[in-house]
Amino acid sequence: MIQLIRGFKDILPGEVELWQYIESTARSLFEDFGFREIRIPIMERTELFARSIGEDTDIVEKEMYTFADRKNELITLRPEATASVVRSYIQHKLYADDPVQKFYTIGPMFRRERPQKGRYRQFYQINAEVFGIDSPFIDAQLIFMLVKLFSRLSVTDVEAHINSLGCPECRPRFKEALAEVLSAATEKLCSDCVRRSLRNPLRVMDCKVPSCREAMTNAPAIIDFLCSECRLHFETVKQALEKLKIPFVIDKRLVRGLDYYTRTTFEIQTSYLGAQNAVVGGGRYNGLVKALGGPDQPAVGFAIGFDRLVEITGLKNADFKQNPDIFIAAMGENGKARAFEWACAFADSGIKTEMDFSDRSLKSLMKRADKLSAAYVLMVGEKELEEGAVVLRDMTTKEQVSIPLENLVEDIKAKILLTTNA
Ligand code: AMP
Repeated sequence: MIQLIRGFKDILPGEVELWQYIESTARSLFEDFGFREIRIPIMERTELFARSIGEDTDIVEKEMYTFADRKNELITLRPEATASVVRSYIQHKLYADDPVQKFYTIGPMFRRERPQKGRYRQFYQINAEVFGIDSPFIDAQLIFMLVKLFSRLSVTDVEAHINSLGCPECRPRFKEALAEVLSAATEKLCSDCVRRSLRNPLRVMDCKVPSCREAMTNAPAIIDFLCSECRLHFETVKQALEKLKIPFVIDKRLVRGLDYYTRTTFEIQTSYLGAQNAVVGGGRYNGLVKALGGPDQPAVGFAIGFDRLVEITGLKNADFKQNPDIFIAAMGENGKARAFEWACAFADSGIKTEMDFSDRSLKSLMKRADKLSAAYVLMVGEKELEEGAVVLRDMTTKEQVSIPLENLVEDIKAKILLTTNA
């Protein structure tokens, strides 16, 4: 038996309904906030991710599924969506008409991480990105929108963590202060962080290794180094969140290693998932559009870990299963042939229809209808065809009525649509 690839998974019927429900809740909420869907490819040139995510990151160094195609071009299965959305914004000059654009996208991402609970090699994200707005209100609005999504999905026990990363003006002063702390603590740092402290020192701040965490307890906080504009921006984000009654904590460990990440950065964390506690990662990346060859437009966005959201939703035990409105128990070749036409007509009219094509007895057909929790069962065999009427059984009340063959489809449609729309 060929098994699926480690770290990959199937989302089976029975589970998929919850995914669909989450997806449609997110879509309708995001659209109310002015977001439009964008669909981007699953593969891009490797260079796009190397440049946008950064060569010094774990994703680019160790986790990307990269291979040469038949013409020896290096391509990569996308490890995240932002790079592609930015590429698309630039490539199609989506800014030309109006630099302000708000997009969302939903789909699979690929990272060759060590699989564990809450961490897969193919996982799903729900992303939203806003271009062309530098106002701190939009940062607060994204967090507000996420909190609303979570409450609609009965997710409790989540906490918004926010920080500001400043800008290329104020960050160098912070980096100097951080470098001092790092050079004094080199022996306590893990080998990754020793390397990071030279190449990407901000990343040491969010290392999970306990000795690194301890070494960083006295690390300076970026928000103490913000220039006046960045400070005002961050203050406005905080005030807006307070006005919207969204609780948050300021988390100085929340950092991104690359220069084009600016100002607000945030995470939504939960205590449900152990070590994999982030359900959402987001923030500003005002420098990225320009860095990838586009106009100098600010941007801010987030990525929700869809798999993790499914894990923590209070709707996990909700029954999204759609039972058939009608089950057709047809017997004999003629019965089946007539019933087959009706089955097609019912389904075409929006009635959930199930028909059994086997040669089972009425008793076992009724058993199957029961198992599927069908609302109605239509029984038809040679006798019914001869008599010119079929039997329709209401499975809840057990009431049976006879329905004449002429006008059968319309009569049953009217009856079922009346009860299902009631
Ligand atoms: P990131 O793009 O790394 O900021 O991740 C954004 C969100 O995607 C995280 O907060 C997680 O919820 C989710 N995520 C990232 N990597 C994985 C993974 N390997 N498996 C499942 N979810 C993930």
